[in-house]
Parts: sequence; structure tokens; C-alpha cells
Amino acid sequence: MTLTKDIPLDEVNPFESMMSRFDRAAELLDLDRGLYTILRNPEKQLIVSIPVRRDDEEIQVFTGFRVHYNTARGPAKGGIRFSPDVTLEEVKALAAWMTWKCAVVNIPFGGAKGGVVCDPRGMSTRELEHLTRRYTAEIMSILGPDTDVPAPDVNTNEQVMAWIMDTYSAHARHTVTSIVTGKPIEMGGSLGRRDATGRGCMLVTLEALRQQGLPVEGARVVVQGFGNVGSTAARLCAQRGMKVVGISDFTTGVHNEDGIDLEAAEDHVRAGGVLEDFEGGDHIANAELLELDCEVLIPAALENQITRANAPRIQAKIICEGANGPTTANADAILEDKGVFVIPDILANAGGVTVSYFEWVQNREGYYWSRERVEKRLKKIMVNSFKDVMRYTESHDVSPRTACYMLAIDRVAFVHRLRGIYA
Ligand code: GLU
Repeated sequence: MTLTKDIPLDEVNPFESMMSRFDRAAELLDLDRGLYTILRNPEKQLIVSIPVRRDDEEIQVFTGFRVHYNTARGPAKGGIRFSPDVTLEEVKALAAWMTWKCAVVNIPFGGAKGGVVCDPRGMSTRELEHLTRRYTAEIMSILGPDTDVPAPDVNTNEQVMAWIMDTYSAHARHTVTSIVTGKPIEMGGSLGRRDATGRGCMLVTLEALRQQGLPVEGARVVVQGFGNVGSTAARLCAQRGMKVVGISDFTTGVHNEDGIDLEAAEDHVRAGGVLEDFEGGDHIANAELLELDCEVLIPAALENQITRANAPRIQAKIICEGANGPTTANADAILEDKGVFVIPDILANAGGVTVSYFEWVQNREGYYWSRERVEKRLKKIMVNSFKDVMRYTESHDVSPRTACYMLAIDRVAFVHRLRGIYA
């Protein structure tokens, strides 16, 4: 799925995009050569072949990846995505982002990511179940509650997590709830996990509006992507008094200056519809949606949506990166020059992994928290992390993006120095 056309070729490799930010932060931190080299390389990369018998009895072999980027601070943590466009480079970048993300919000995990090259839209539930179970079995040697704990990501959901947990538990000969997060509530999932990423986006958007001296009431919000993150962020921002004037999915963008009826849009999508058939506003191209006049833009779809090609035309005052890597490194400088305040992905969308951490803790305690407790603790972590990043931004006179990377790399590097190198 390509949402933005004409992406310059040097901007399409997300690993390079991530690394250019890493390099800048490492230089400013004056990171020593040895640690720099360690942190530039993923710890472990696994590529597996996944044979699946399709419904027509044909055998198809899919390719899957699982990458542990860094586990100095704790078990590798990160989602699994199903998409025809997944590559090892992308999974490496996403695993690195998970490492920095967990460090920015200071939760005791390292970073991982997984992906399977497939188009789930063209697969039956039975085929998806077989694919998930065989993929789990193939990467099982590097999974474990203290080793690597997967979660949902693009095109994976609670049902997929349930299959992963069941497959792992069958091999372990007992039920292991803490092997995966983002599970259905009835089998050890946490209250508040489903909304957590979108809720985190809303919380840091509120902080950013305050920080920028902009009123919350009536602030115009445009959200790209209407999956779990985008639809939740839109709904929660509207509940706080903001006005959501643009939404989109892979079929179209929808624009309505009077505010979109989000309940109607969610009902439409939940019933299996796409926004192309939703009549709550004018239909516009995705590229146009990103350039709408608004206070807050929340790109919550895929990587590489804001590039040096369209960054000069972005009119938002605040960008809250709900997706991982929606802005390329080249676009960063353009946005900075324009004075756009960017809440970087590794902070903005960290609400999901934060509640994943709560879920893992609850599974290990065997004691389950109320929704109120989850939301209160999530708010505390998101708001405090935003403030930590702001302090770093001011004290080091850098952009919030560079501040996030510096804070994260500093935390990971600190642990590496304490642990030393096993020889
Ligand atoms: N896939 C989500 C992310 O990119 C959640 C990861 C998790 O909860 O482990 O942050």
C-alpha cells in the first residue's frame, strides 16, 4: 500500500532513515566508538520459511522475519506485522525503533520486531491461523517471556496473539500468558491495551498544544490511517474538545471542516466498510490530506509518508507521529525550518508498548488491574516522558526528535557500560 507517491529513492529505506537520526544523536552524545558500533547492529536476525496449505490445497511458502535489535535493558519487545511490503530492512528499523521507544518511556524492555510477507486481505481465517502458528513455531527458539515478547502491529490483532500464545503454550506443555501482549482480555490481556497507542497519542498531543500555547478546544486535527491507532486517536482527541476535520484509509481521505462524525465512521469501518463508501465529508487524495490546514496532523498509517517532496507544503503546527517512521530524515530538517513541532514516533506512539509492559507485569503477577489503574499509570508515563524529552530539548538545544534519540541512546549505552562485554 503506497499512500504517498513520488517518494525520493534515498528516502525509502527505513533502516537508513533511522540510522541517520541515530548517528546525529550519537555524535552529539559523543558516544565512544565501541558502543557506537554495538548499537548500530542488530543482535539477532532470523529469517524463516513458512509453508502453508492454502484452501485450494496448494502449498505456498511465505517468508518471515524476527529481529532482536538490542536486549541490554530487558527482554526483546515488539510487534509482528503481516504485509506484502515487509522487508528485513524494515523489520530491522522497526526493531531498533522499539529499542529506543522502550528506553524513552523507561520501561525495562529491549527492542524487537517481526514480519511475514503476505497479504492478509487475500487469506481466509484458516490460512491466517496456519500461517501464524507455523511462523510462531519457526521463531520459537528465540521467543520466551524473559527473551522476546511479541505484540500486534500492522494487520495483526488480538486473535493472532491468541494463536501465538496457544502455539507457544502447546510446546511448553502449560499455558504461558506472558509470552505475548495485546491478547484478548479473557485470556490474560490487559484492560486498556486496545486503546493504548491512540490514547498515548492524544495525551502527548494535549501536552504539545499546551507547550505551543494553542487552545485545545476546537483545535483542528487531521488523522492519516483509520486502523486501531488512527481511529482511537481521532475519537479520544474529539472527546477532549478537538475537531477532527480529516481522516483517511488506504482507499481515500475524507475532509469535513465542520468535524467528521467519528462514531459513524467507526461503525462503518467496523461493519467491514472502507472510507471510499463513507459519506461524512469530501473525498480527497491521501497526499492532499497530509497538506490540509490544521493545528495537529497525526500520521498513523505507515512509514515514509512525510518526505522532502511534501514536507514544504505541510500546514500543521504539530505533528504527532502515531505510526512508526512516518517522517523521513530529510523531511525533519524542512519541518524544523518551518517551525512545525514534531512529537517523534518513539515517544508519540509509545502508549501501546507501555500498556504491553503493564500486561506482561499483570500476567507474571497473576493479578489484574482495573482500567482506571491502567489509564492513570499510562498517563503518568506519557506525560512524564514528554516532559523529560522537553527538558532534554531545551538543555541540549536540539529538536524533540534528536532529544528522544539522545535520551534513549544514553539510557541503553549506560546499561551497556555497566554490563560490559562478555568474552
Ligand atoms: N507494535 C506496537 C509498536 O510498534 C506495540 C509493540 C508492543 O506492544 O510490544 O509500538
